[in-house]
Amino acid sequence: MRLVLIGPPGAGKGTQAAVLSERLGVPHISTGDLFREHVTRRTPLGREAQRYLDTGELVPDHVTVGMVRERLAGPDARHGFLLDGFPRTVAQARELTAILGAAGTALDAVLELTAPEDVVVARLLGRGRPDDTEDVIRHRQRVYRHQTAPLLAHYSAVLLTVDAVGPVSEITARALAGLSDAERWAG
Ligand code: AMP
Repeated sequence: MRLVLIGPPGAGKGTQAAVLSERLGVPHISTGDLFREHVTRRTPLGREAQRYLDTGELVPDHVTVGMVRERLAGPDARHGFLLDGFPRTVAQARELTAILGAAGTALDAVLELTAPEDVVVARLLGRGRPDDTEDVIRHRQRVYRHQTAPLLAHYSAVLLTVDAVGPVSEITARALAGLSDAERWAG
């Protein structure tokens, strides 16, 4: 299974991705986590990415896409993956299509997690990551609306929308049910 998880910051992508990747037997690839690892290790990529993470802006594509291409070339991602936080723009989606196309593959599904903005902002305020100050949270929501939400139309043919309000296990069950329906339709 080659999957992408999309949703506003605070929709629970990281939580669901961890559970779903285990259930589906594919690696969980989070660009946010990859960036944070680079920042912690103080690599050149991390030093370049830091100021974007701090303000909630998107890291430029020449940095992000290269990092993803390298990660997807890893042997564990050959037969599937769950991408969390990438692509975040239509341009990144086109890059992903090209990366997969060069390997003779394509996405199977795009899972969208939806939740009202007041719910996601409240979740993020309770989480306590360094970029979870109210200003940065609000900015990340704006970036999502303007830059990432247009991706939903781009992926309409493979899009599966899941209500992300409720207990974690119920949301996982909704996602898995949606994926198995989608598989059935795809034959
Ligand atoms: P996340 O952990 O998904 O909330 O991402 C945290 C931060 O990492 C974002 O606010 C961006 O600064 C950066 N980031 C993560 N994924 C991407 C991406 N696909 N493109 C650009 N920046 C990203």
